[in-house]
This record gives sequence, structure tokens and C-alpha cells, in this order.
Amino acid sequence: MAHPRIFDRRSLLLLLTLLLSSGFAATALFGYFASSRAIQKAIIEQDLPLTSSNIYSEIQKDLVRPVLISSTMAHDTFLRDWVLRGEKDAVEVARYLTEVKRRYGAFSSFFVSDKSATYYTGEGVLKRVRPDEPRDAWYYRVKGMQEDYEINVDPDLANADALTIFINYRVFDFDGRFIGATGIGLTVDAVSGLIAEYQKRFMRTIYFVDANGRVVQLGASRGAPGADLHKAPGLGPLIDGILQKQRGSHMFEANGDSHILHVNYLPELKWYLFVEQNASAALADIRRTLYANLAISLVVTLVVVFLAHLALTRYQYRIEEMATTDALTGLFNRHAFDILIGKLLAEYRREPRPISMLMADIDHFKEVNDRHGHQAGDAILVEVARVLQNRLRASDMAVRWGGEEFLMVLKGCDLAEARRIAEDLRLAVAQATVAARGAQLSVTISLGVSQFDGSETIDSLVGRADGALYAAKNDGRNRVNAA
Ligand code: GH3
Ligand code: MG
Ligand code: MG
Repeated sequence: MAHPRIFDRRSLLLLLTLLLSSGFAATALFGYFASSRAIQKAIIEQDLPLTSSNIYSEIQKDLVRPVLISSTMAHDTFLRDWVLRGEKDAVEVARYLTEVKRRYGAFSSFFVSDKSATYYTGEGVLKRVRPDEPRDAWYYRVKGMQEDYEINVDPDLANADALTIFINYRVFDFDGRFIGATGIGLTVDAVSGLIAEYQKRFMRTIYFVDANGRVVQLGASRGAPGADLHKAPGLGPLIDGILQKQRGSHMFEANGDSHILHVNYLPELKWYLFVEQNASAALADIRRTLYANLAISLVVTLVVVFLAHLALTRYQYRIEEMATTDALTGLFNRHAFDILIGKLLAEYRREPRPISMLMADIDHFKEVNDRHGHQAGDAILVEVARVLQNRLRASDMAVRWGGEEFLMVLKGCDLAEARRIAEDLRLAVAQATVAARGAQLSVTISLGVSQFDGSETIDSLVGRADGALYAAKNDGRNRVNAA
């Protein structure tokens, strides 16, 4: 029979570890997923659209002013009179264009005369425009178009970092005949600055894409200018659908990170504004928090389990002690006997050595109680137990069997030797005294002896010792009798 435990400490500690760690982990993970979902949602629904519309409105604002300036130029009577008078002095129109450029802080100002096909700037005559020159194509487009003006973004910018926008305004004489095109070119520094700032502050990638899916360089940007997004990792397969949709949010995976992309079409420029954020990078902070939480949880779990282990070890020891010993005498109780006798029999089966049993009972104990009180009776029980225990060897076992009955198991003793020991115990008890209310009390015991026959049950062995004890009582008490 295995030594029974009040509870299984190891599985209790395992359960505690599991409960604590899964509880902590669940809390940390729930928190992580809740905040990562909130962050993703905020990026998709607020951050990126807001950035996009801020940049968009900044661009539109920057476009309105040059359109007004160009309109004023197109309707300027000096300019038109000067053309109608035959474009005599180029210095005059150059001074006019310089003035406009200086006053409005334009990047450039120009007038192209239809009659002479001359391109004038603030420096005077720049060149002649020719229909077969690809770089002059814009002029013939403007000449033929229905609208008063167009906004043209020069693809060959001198300064690759700055977006330069030309407003090409049609000029008419006082009878409504087309006589040329005028306008200004502006660098949109505010937009570039804004984009650079957004990129830096929010770790967003902001760039423009043309209808063919090619990147247009503007401020800091994604890839090289002209890079084909069809070849971009993750984004490539989606790009046609994205451009077709014109506006909206998209998600894609690239280089192991997930990216969120917001797209907005700018009809004035015929460009798409792409605002992209690396969601994985944005979540890095809360992932760090998650790891910290998990580490703290682990430490707390370990500490709690360790403390629980210490407490359990202590209490289990105490509980087991309480469960196996008699409170009054400190001898084993019957529960302990059941456990230990099982072990003893198992031992016997492996290596048969004689086992004997003594059953002792105090004589006329009722009288002692009646005459001297229950407390004196208890003191005698304690003293008898002490005497018995002291005389036995460490390998023997003394059990408080009943009220004033003691069972002793003697290892390696045959009946004759057990008898001698019983006799010795009887004399020792008879000689012991206990002081109670001024009197010196002493008691005697009767003992029954039996030897294990190698095959009987424990009940039989105990029963035979009990029977021998009964006979000893009948024979007059204070004596030993063997079964
Ligand atoms: P005998 O065994 O010699 O036949 O007589 P006895 O008087 O000892 O017999 P009996 O078994 O009838 O009485 C046992 C008494 O022991 C009864 C009970 O009052 C007393 N007793 C049992 N347990 C305790 C105990 O824990 N403390 C005290 N003080 N008395 C106890
Ligand atoms: Mg008795
Ligand atoms: Mg009795």
C-alpha cells in the first residue's frame, strides 16, 4: 500500500502553474489583440485618410493661387496690347514677366505668342516653339483645348525633389481670337515639406503614382522615381485593382511585415496619392509591452508557485503528522498502523523474519478515572505510553489501539522473545508512578502475545493477541499470556 496523501502536491502545483500562466497569458494576449485591432482600425479609418486628405487639400490650395495669377496675366491689357502692336520690344514683356515672377514668388513666368511662335520669359526670348518638338507639345495642346487653362506637371523637373506645376492659360485678343498662352510655374514646397514631415513623424511612406502604376518622385518617396509598382513586393499583384478603384484602403504583406495603404486619386494632376504605413512597425510598441507582460507573468507565476510549494510542504508534513499520530500520547494511531503494517508484510514477503504482536490493556482503569478524575487518567495514559515507547526499539511500532489499549509490533522477534519483552514492559509500567493531586499513582497492565504465522491476516494476528490478553485478564491481570 502506497503512503496515502491528503492531496497530491505535485498535481496541485501543476494546476496552480497552469491556472496562473494561462490566466496571465490570456489577459496579456487579449490586451495585445484588442489594442492591435484598435491601432489597425485607427490607421485604416483615421490616420491614413486624414494624412491623405491633408496633403490633398494642401495641393489644391497651392494650385488655386497660381491659377488666379495666370488668369490675371491672360487678361492683362498691357500683354495683349503689346502682342497686338507686333511684339516690338522683347525687353518690355521680359520686364513684365520678371515683375509677375518677383511679385508672386513664382518659379518661372512665361508667354508664348501664337503669331510669332516665340517663347518669352523674364530673361527675354527663350526660343521658338515648333509643332514637331516633343517638348513644345504642351503649347499645341493648350492652343487646341476647350478649357481656359490646364494644370501641367512637368515630368522633366530640374529639381527632382520639388513638384513644379505649370498653369497654362489661354490668351485672347479683344475680339476673342486666340493669340497665345501665358502663366507661371510654381514649386510646391509646402506639399513637399508636409509630406516629408508626415513621413518622419508617423513613419509613413507617401508618394504619387501615375496611371501606369509608376512612382512619381516628390519629396522622400518609395523606390526610385519611375519605379514600376507592378514589380513591388507584396503590392505588385494588387496595383491594377488599386488604381482602378481610385480611392480606398488596402492591406498587403511585404518582407514579413503587414502594410496598410490608403489611396486617393487627384484628378487635377491625374495622379494617385499613396499613403502607406508599416502596421507591424506601428505595433512594435505594444508587442514590446506584450513581451514585458508575459515576462512579468512568468516571474510572478514562478514566485507564487515556489511560495505555494514551500507552504504546501510545511502543511502537508503537519497534516500527515496529525493524521498518523495520537494527539494525547504521541504514539501512532490506527490509521498509521494500517499503513505501516502493510509495508511490514510486504517486507516479510521479500525476506521472512519473525514478527510478533503485543496487546496491552491497563488494569482497572475505570477505577482510576472514577477515583482520581479523568485528567489523572490521561496523565497515566501519557506515562504508560512513554514507558512502552522508551523500552521498545526504534524498528518496533507502538500504536494507541483504543482508549487504554496499546498494540505493539515487534520486528524480528519470535514468540519467546516477545514474551520476555512483554514481561519487561509489564514490570516497567508497574514501577512507574504519576503524581496526581498529591498522590503517587501507579497502574499495572496485562498483555497478550501472538506471533505472525506467515499466512494469516492482520485481523487474525491482532485477534489472537487480543484473545491472549483476555485470558491474562481472566487469570487475574498484571500478567503476560501468549497465544
Ligand atoms: P479491565 O481492563 O482491567 O477489565 O478494567 P477497565 O476498567 O480498564 O476496563 P474497561 O475497558 O471497561 O474500561 C476502560 C476505561 O478506560 C473506560 C474509560 O473511562 C477509560 N478511558 C478510555 N479512554 C480514556 C482516555 O482517553 N482518558 C481517560 N482518562 N480515560 C479513558
Ligand atoms: Mg482496561
Ligand atoms: Mg480496555
